Amino acid sequence: MRIAIVDGYTDEPAGLGVPPYLGIYPRYAYGAIKKANKSAEVFYLTIDDLRATFEGENGIATRNKTPNFPETKKILETADVIVYIGGLHTPGKYLSAVPSQVDEVAKFLKPFKGVKILGGPAFMGSAHAGGTKVTSRELLLAQTVFDHIVYGDLEAFLFDYLQDPKDADPFRFRDYAELRDYAIIGAEVVRQFPDFPDFVIVEIETQRGCPKAMGIGGCSFCTEPVRYRTVEDRPVEDVVAEVKALYDLGVRHFRVGRQSCIFSYMARPNGRVPVPNPEAIEKLFAGIRSVAPHVKTLHVDNANPAVIANYPEESIRIAKALIKYGTPGNVVAFGLESADPKVAKLNNLNATAEETYEAVKILNEVGGRRGYNGMPWLLPGINIVFGLPGETKKSYELTFQFLKRLLDEGLMVRRINIRQVVVFPGTPLWHLRGKVKTEKHKRLIQHYKYKIRHEIDLPMLKRVVPVGTILRDVRAEVFDNGLTYGRQIGSYPLIVGMPKKMPLNRFYNVMIVDHGYRSITGIPVPVNVNTESPKVLQYLPGIGKKTAVKILSKRPFRSREEFFETIGNEKREILEEAITL
Ligand code: SF4
Repeated sequence: MRIAIVDGYTDEPAGLGVPPYLGIYPRYAYGAIKKANKSAEVFYLTIDDLRATFEGENGIATRNKTPNFPETKKILETADVIVYIGGLHTPGKYLSAVPSQVDEVAKFLKPFKGVKILGGPAFMGSAHAGGTKVTSRELLLAQTVFDHIVYGDLEAFLFDYLQDPKDADPFRFRDYAELRDYAIIGAEVVRQFPDFPDFVIVEIETQRGCPKAMGIGGCSFCTEPVRYRTVEDRPVEDVVAEVKALYDLGVRHFRVGRQSCIFSYMARPNGRVPVPNPEAIEKLFAGIRSVAPHVKTLHVDNANPAVIANYPEESIRIAKALIKYGTPGNVVAFGLESADPKVAKLNNLNATAEETYEAVKILNEVGGRRGYNGMPWLLPGINIVFGLPGETKKSYELTFQFLKRLLDEGLMVRRINIRQVVVFPGTPLWHLRGKVKTEKHKRLIQHYKYKIRHEIDLPMLKRVVPVGTILRDVRAEVFDNGLTYGRQIGSYPLIVGMPKKMPLNRFYNVMIVDHGYRSITGIPVPVNVNTESPKVLQYLPGIGKKTAVKILSKRPFRSREEFFETIGNEKREILEEAITL
């Protein structure tokens, strides 16, 4: 039996599977297939393999010119089963890999004879931009191309299907006991990931469902409680066993990000705000580190700020555990969505502006210190959603003023993510869809986005990574228009533009020399002052055009002393580590 898994990439409120992330779905699918049929040949292809293979043939420009899997066409021709995984619920900006949608993949897969199965969040549709309403169009199209659409858990369906197709129920969910083997066996698929082993980060699941939604219902727009109506915490031993399997294969970057709130892992239900369980989280991360001692990245993702603000003692213990066992540059994304209490009430949002402020303060106190990779250890991120029902002009101003307060009080926020709300069928927002404000407030939204980018993001970035900071292990990923773009591997890494052509897929240490609204400019260090181009030299802090000319006229320098005497010894402190001869 030959089976092809096509990863169209996934992005959901509580889970990411867009490269360099390898998400949970392909891994679990692979594991379920192998558990059901040990001798099955399973091929992992990405949507970029298909784009390069088929669009390339037609002479259409592709994002990646060469398929990572040159045998793509042959694999699809001979596959008995083709499993497509996709679904984009929280669209973002992607640096090099762009998620697919059903229209695109349908075009590629239609000619092949194998049984076609669609899994992942794609059955609810995909939103390629904020401010849209997801209709049933994608699902209708999917029904014409795929033999089976899986609404429950893909891995459960695949396991049953391979035992006996008649018994496979596309609505079946598995529990964590069933998942255990799939996750461990499925780790092996990482070997087929295009950038394995150096440039892959795996998303790890600890919980499904939303504890806050269990207490008082979900946020109006969110798909997580629609898919998972109860909350299930994954046992520590199972998470650790999966991490061990991945680590033993060579994976060194992990994000424990597949959960709605890491601070609510194994928490006690308690209405709106569950009571956190620091012992369980310490046990979880200590366990991970015991089997993966030399991880390069161990990050997390979402947290509910209401939990942190209402249980500060427990939350400080949790934050300290994330720092003790994790790695710097870690980010906890807080879903504030709106600082307007009226909007919060109408949309059943999870935290108030005051609670979010308290949570930001707590994380800054515990995690604001700079770590060995150049980034602060653990910072909050803030998620904002524009266009929610109930919004007025005042709502945008309240949200802006909330962010301004954080800035004015010297606090750090790693990232402010502003999305326009997407309406998904099945969510409470679907019933309020006539009141969504993305169209009506189009100009207001644009205005406040611009204002936040300029007046908050820019000074905030300057605070988080001041000029002269050296970020370690920045992977060069894309070259475009004279700039090489790179980022560290982790949760919400900063995108660094380097003003020269650098060999891609290598790690560099980069000195930050300038700031944009959402990205930064950096130059790879150390810079050889005897050979570097004047264009790059003048980016160094304290070296403008004039000093660059002076450097050129005095080259070659025979000692560092000679160099610093030429440019001024007062610059030595900031440039000491940045130059070489
Ligand atoms: S807190 Fe709200 S946005 Fe977050 S997972 Fe729960 S329902 Fe979704």
